[in-house]
Amino acid sequence: MEIITSPSPNFDDRKHAVDMLVLHYTGMKTGQAAFDQLRNPDAKVSSHYLLWEDGRVDQMVAEDRRAWHAGVSSWQGDDDLNSRSIGIEIVNGGHDFPLPDGTLPPYPAAQVEALIELCHTILAGHDIPQTRIVGHSDIAPLRKQDPGEHFPWERLARAGIGIWADIEELDNPDVQTKGLSPGDETASVQRMQDSLQRIGYGLPPTGAFDELTEATVRAFQRRWLPDRVTGTADIRTLRQIGVIHALYTAG
Ligand SMILES: [Zn+2]
Repeated sequence: MEIITSPSPNFDDRKHAVDMLVLHYTGMKTGQAAFDQLRNPDAKVSSHYLLWEDGRVDQMVAEDRRAWHAGVSSWQGDDDLNSRSIGIEIVNGGHDFPLPDGTLPPYPAAQVEALIELCHTILAGHDIPQTRIVGHSDIAPLRKQDPGEHFPWERLARAGIGIWADIEELDNPDVQTKGLSPGDETASVQRMQDSLQRIGYGLPPTGAFDELTEATVRAFQRRWLPDRVTGTADIRTLRQIGVIHALYTAG
């Protein structure tokens, strides 16, 4: 694939080797606006790559340098994720720029195919575990919604990028099992928080379904239950957390 070098001044030195891949949407009105922002010295943001709707790729920061895309964030007990990650900004208006009918703007096929190719190239060059391929909302759930519930995580996983699990059929719904909601304070909440933390989310198992827990459940749903981003842990959500937890700790 053709990669155009379009340097950004916004970078510094890594303090760790690369072991994560962080995916973003740009969340701006146009790709050009994002392109300009990511190269503006006053904005103090950048990413290694910018991927346009038509599949074009700009490289703005060298992979051995620390780009400024993650901000305050946490995954699997690590922070300073800028030092550990490659960041890709994918041109998409996201939640701030929906279509006229209110739905999220889709990621075009040409962009998704180019993203898969770019990710394959990055994964071939670094030792990045599958459990450390994340969305921005996974590592900063209180602040970020990107790359959004419309992002094709399932398609990427079929191409070997990240972990996916088909949603378990509830042909025999267990009426005895109650879901968990904001405000609950129980041992079941603590077990759910523990599972989410073991997947990677920065969520202390306090037993209280607080604001951070709600944001984290929402981040989990954006990633693995995109048709129900509610922040409430219904039975299906709890089961899917269990499935992903098992897959993440199996290796
Ligand atoms: Zn982002």
